[in-house]
Amino acid sequence: MSAVTMEKLVSLAKRRGFVFQSSEIYGGLGSTWDYGPLGVELKRNVKNRWWRDMVTARENVVGMDAAILMNPKVWEASGHVAQFHDLLVDSRKTKKRYRLDHLLEAQKPEAVAALAEQLGHVFSGDPQSTENIVALLGAVAAAGDVDINGVGILDPSNRKIDADWTTPRQFNLMLKTYLGPTEDEGSLTYLRPETAQGIFVNFLNVQTTARMRLPFGIAQIGKAFRNEITTGNFIFRTREFEQMELEFFVPPADTSKWLDYWTEARLNWYLSLGISPGHLRVRPHSADELAHYSAACNDIEYQFPFLQKDDEEGWGELEGIADRGTYDLDRHMEHSGKKLSFMDPGLNEKVLPAVVEASAGVDRTVLALLSDAYHEEEVPTAGSGEPEKRVVLRLSPAMAPITVAVLPLVNKDGMPEIARKLVDDLRGDFAAFHDAGGSIGRRYRRQDEAGTPFCVTVDGQTTEDQTVTVRHRDSMQQERVALEQVKDYLRANMA
Ligand code: ATP
Repeated sequence: MSAVTMEKLVSLAKRRGFVFQSSEIYGGLGSTWDYGPLGVELKRNVKNRWWRDMVTARENVVGMDAAILMNPKVWEASGHVAQFHDLLVDSRKTKKRYRLDHLLEAQKPEAVAALAEQLGHVFSGDPQSTENIVALLGAVAAAGDVDINGVGILDPSNRKIDADWTTPRQFNLMLKTYLGPTEDEGSLTYLRPETAQGIFVNFLNVQTTARMRLPFGIAQIGKAFRNEITTGNFIFRTREFEQMELEFFVPPADTSKWLDYWTEARLNWYLSLGISPGHLRVRPHSADELAHYSAACNDIEYQFPFLQKDDEEGWGELEGIADRGTYDLDRHMEHSGKKLSFMDPGLNEKVLPAVVEASAGVDRTVLALLSDAYHEEEVPTAGSGEPEKRVVLRLSPAMAPITVAVLPLVNKDGMPEIARKLVDDLRGDFAAFHDAGGSIGRRYRRQDEAGTPFCVTVDGQTTEDQTVTVRHRDSMQQERVALEQVKDYLRANMA
């Protein structure tokens, strides 16, 4: 049936209470979203599953929770103050702002070559290779006031822009804030752009107190903030988002082995959430795409239908798994003047470990789950009428915000009492929900849209023989199950 579009997903998310626009009654705030009652459960299921699989289930991984605000020196050491920026250009005509790297990627090779020539920048091979674009951006940044108007820039959809460009300027992606009563340089700090640095600066505290020996990991889930220029695609790219990060510390010689290990483990994790294998892939970064501190990196990508445009296949990053070597700990040793190497009891020598990082986005995982689960179907109506359309979220039972909805067929003849008692009894073990409003058909449709895998209906027969019907979301098949068997039945069908 018809593919999921962004509009359909945003509309379902709002209709069912997964995601709302932030501050909606005031007209919203650009690219900022709030999670409603169902969204917060879905998000929590993702985070709980990650924590269970990455921390609880592993002897050699421990967790932590660092403050969002950190000493600004952390961001000097990490390189974010100096390097975490994009080059931006404004069009005086359209009043729109663009990222220069996005524009250059969309150009005809001659346009890129023309800009290179203007800057006296020499390159070999494809003008639009990532390597060349990165070098060219560096040349633009170094040259200062560069006029790009002679280049004939096209927009990312290959349309000529009637622009009148401003000169490109650098824009740091970190969100600034001031601590205390005065807003001056001395009180300036940043909202963290990644959770990882909280782990690095606590590395020795954690190693010592938890008495870890290599290889071992430190995991953290938390909010991160980036003043992204080009936000959009719903919760795919926002300025406030949540990360799930593992920093795995290993002897420096072992990084490539662990990079392979974590890439496979993390891909399998997304599969275990029920995401279709055909929509997931691992994309190794080419050498010219790597951050300067990274020896190798694999992205786990999901194919989002709404990122598919023109010739683009729609692959979007869910997680990056990177060999960061000893870069981070080296930088923190250098900037703090503190030694971060330690005596590893297993190796019996003093080591400064290297790091393999697995950095995932909670919101992007939620978006991938919603996109993957969204289906529209035509289902036969009870009578002989036209088939009707139903929207169903085929979330795996473990991810679904509601596991079981209990529905009294009508609000009389003892059915409401039995339904109430059943839902109260189920609540301790399952995410259970009670709904007595509207026709039974409408209640089923609502639960289909919420992704609820099971609906238990209390009907006339229940009062006679203590059985209920269990309706399966995907097949819409119904079975009669004894009231006292409902829990076991659900457990058996959850897997
Ligand atoms: P992108 O290239 O898409 O901007 P990135 O490579 O900068 O992402 P990382 O710094 O590797 O991203 O961050 C790790 C993860 O955090 C990403 O894989 C993504 O899931 C999530 N993430 C990063 N930036 C955002 C954002 N602006 N909104 C939502 N999630 C994000």
